[in-house]
Amino acid sequence: MYDVIIIGSGPAGLTTAIYASRAKLDTLVVAGAFWGGQLMLTTEVENFPGFADGIMGPDLMDNMRKQAERFGAKLVFEDATSVDFSSKPFKISAGNQVFEAISVIIATGASPKWLGLESEIRLRGRGVSVCATCDAPLFKGKKAVVVGGGDTAIEEALALTKFAREVTIVHRRDQLRATKILQERAFSNDKISFIWDSVVQEILGKDRVEGVCLKNVKTGEESELAADAVFVAIGRKPNTDLFKGQIELDQEGYVIARDETKTSVEGVFVAGDAQDRRYRQSVVAAGAGCKAAMDVKKYLEEQAR
Ligand code: NAP
Repeated sequence: MYDVIIIGSGPAGLTTAIYASRAKLDTLVVAGAFWGGQLMLTTEVENFPGFADGIMGPDLMDNMRKQAERFGAKLVFEDATSVDFSSKPFKISAGNQVFEAISVIIATGASPKWLGLESEIRLRGRGVSVCATCDAPLFKGKKAVVVGGGDTAIEEALALTKFAREVTIVHRRDQLRATKILQERAFSNDKISFIWDSVVQEILGKDRVEGVCLKNVKTGEESELAADAVFVAIGRKPNTDLFKGQIELDQEGYVIARDETKTSVEGVFVAGDAQDRRYRQSVVAAGAGCKAAMDVKKYLEEQAR
């Protein structure tokens, strides 16, 4: 029986683990088969405070993990497959084990969204990707399309320019959502061009990506663009399917939090992108993890009285 089980091991989960284990709570992190969250898929993180020259995403997560383990947090590298919050102790199944705890912190984060095209599923891993950091080197000297207009799309496009010959950003509006500094970098990069007011209707190719079929949403005009890769960067979806029917989620699946970290079940708390549709930054997720651990500590003290 643990004092607290943290589900998820991104910046929110591991910061919670650092604070909880340092507060001498018996702490288990159900870290997932692919631990570390979204920063494991990034290259250099320039905006996490404390690293004047930046730090590689996986190195940052490795440091957080070591820091949590140093204070006694245990990690299991399995995905949580079901939870039972209907009675206490709470139960969490992962791998072939069932773990029990007096309190739980949900820190399952979010995952990339897909366009929802049949061709996108068929050609995934054959030129269709959501991770330039992982796959950009495969497209050395080739042509890539990036779909989206937010920070992720621009970062993906910039990362791709290190390898690809040409990068075309296809955005459904005529203005980017990305922060100004990233916009400036993209506009001043000779390898990057833009197709505005357009959506990808189909990804072309049988066994590998050969291009995209585009539709201009203002004129209705359809066109084809040859490309070897399509990187989809259109936002994220919270990883909360596991909690459907157990705690209150909003229409898009984000955990509804009251008083910062409390879910609809007493003793179950939330931190990070599973709840945060607005900021979605690792530093904010880490801060939320700190809050959740402090609230859990207070909750456990109240239970013990
Ligand atoms: P986002 O900000 O939600 O942007 C998603 C983009 O995709 C938008 O431009 C959106 O268009 C477009 N889009 C959404 N659904 C679409 C669809 N079905 N078809 C075509 N286009 C679609 O997502 P994000 O870029 O992944 O960023 C998520 C959060 O992480 C943000 O808060 C961002 O600031 C943060 N982030 C920060 C950094 C950094 O600081 N270095 C890096 C990456 C991400 P509209 O603009 O028309 O809505």
